[in-house]
Amino acid sequence: MGKNSLMGITGDLTGRSIIDSLGVEPLINAGGPNTKHSGSRPRPEAIEAMEAMSEVFVDMDELLLAAGERIAEITGNEAATITSGASGGLVVQAAAAMAKDNPERISQLPITDGMPNELIIQRGHRFVYDHLYLAPGSRFVEVGRPTDCAIEEIGEAIGPNTAGLIHLESPFKSELGVPLPELADLAHSHGLPVLADCASMLPPRENLTKFTQQGADLVSFSGGKAVRGPQSTGFLIGKPEWIEYARLNNAPNPGVTRAQKVSKEEIAGLLAALEAFTAVDEEAETKKYRDQMNFVVDQITEIPGLSAEVMHNYDHYIPHAVVTFGETWKGPGYSEIADRMKSGSPRIYTAVDYRPEPDRMWIDPLNLQDGEVEQVAEQFRNILIEAASGN
Ligand SMILES: *Cc1c(COP(=O)(O)O)cnc(C)c1O
Repeated sequence: MGKNSLMGITGDLTGRSIIDSLGVEPLINAGGPNTKHSGSRPRPEAIEAMEAMSEVFVDMDELLLAAGERIAEITGNEAATITSGASGGLVVQAAAAMAKDNPERISQLPITDGMPNELIIQRGHRFVYDHLYLAPGSRFVEVGRPTDCAIEEIGEAIGPNTAGLIHLESPFKSELGVPLPELADLAHSHGLPVLADCASMLPPRENLTKFTQQGADLVSFSGGKAVRGPQSTGFLIGKPEWIEYARLNNAPNPGVTRAQKVSKEEIAGLLAALEAFTAVDEEAETKKYRDQMNFVVDQITEIPGLSAEVMHNYDHYIPHAVVTFGETWKGPGYSEIADRMKSGSPRIYTAVDYRPEPDRMWIDPLNLQDGEVEQVAEQFRNILIEAASGN
């Protein structure tokens, strides 16, 4: 064992001592629950439940069924099940749409011979993670344009090979697609399911029931974003028959999703996190974040060439301190500013708007710990002041 091994750490084992022993540098996460920047901090309740769960053994089918029922209860839905992240939920949705509860079909995937394998997706709902829908062997039929789509175009695309209709809810999605309730009516008139990716749409907590009430049959959420369960978890909510198809197509059963297993500890962690998440007073939580973001905005608002404001809307799930670089801005664009924040001392990860226009970035308070909002505001101010002078 090398002298830097975890067992060789003298004194308390801390997150910091672990990464120090590996030579990995920490960063302040002021950009939200981005997976590449290690997601979100699991709630203490989740960590405690994971540790406690490691003491027992169970039949995983029984545990998953019971945990699904509990999630349905906590979230106010008819049925639910657990997945490996919202991405895992997309794979399971597609498999369920094609194979349903047919054991031969389930074990045949990703070879889709002899079963409907087309998923209809609006071009405005294409998204970096949507290839997960293709993992179990399905294919996309794309309809509409990146900005809009008419319901008739979807109707015309439905045929004997259609397995389901995809719907995305995500920040910065075009508003001009087919509204979910209309899409659901169309799907159901053909006996097809609506598969919804709503991974990052929490909070607001009301979204836990909104998309199922609007008719989606399976809705995928992340457990590792603002819910603050284990990073690797997610959950599907929806109609009982479709949740059952999802469960049958999901790990730990052998099949195309077997690589997506979720441990009993992670299941307990997600349950505890969801219980805690739904018990939070959302108004008080929002006020706390808004106060923190107002503090950041106050530090930078007078810097010439930019505008700073707190935004909290469909695109910003909690209050964010958003900076927009205007025409009179003399410095570099958002990606260079974000790079400077990340290579600063401390290293700070910030969120950027990946669209070329507007030139915009923001601070997300979800992962900030005590004292960090002050550090983030100070460094952001210093870097922006220097950049505003054209450096
Ligand atoms: C975050 C996200 C995902 C992936 O969720 P994970 O829980 O990280 O697997 C999928 N789709 C959308 C729209 C997302 O925002």
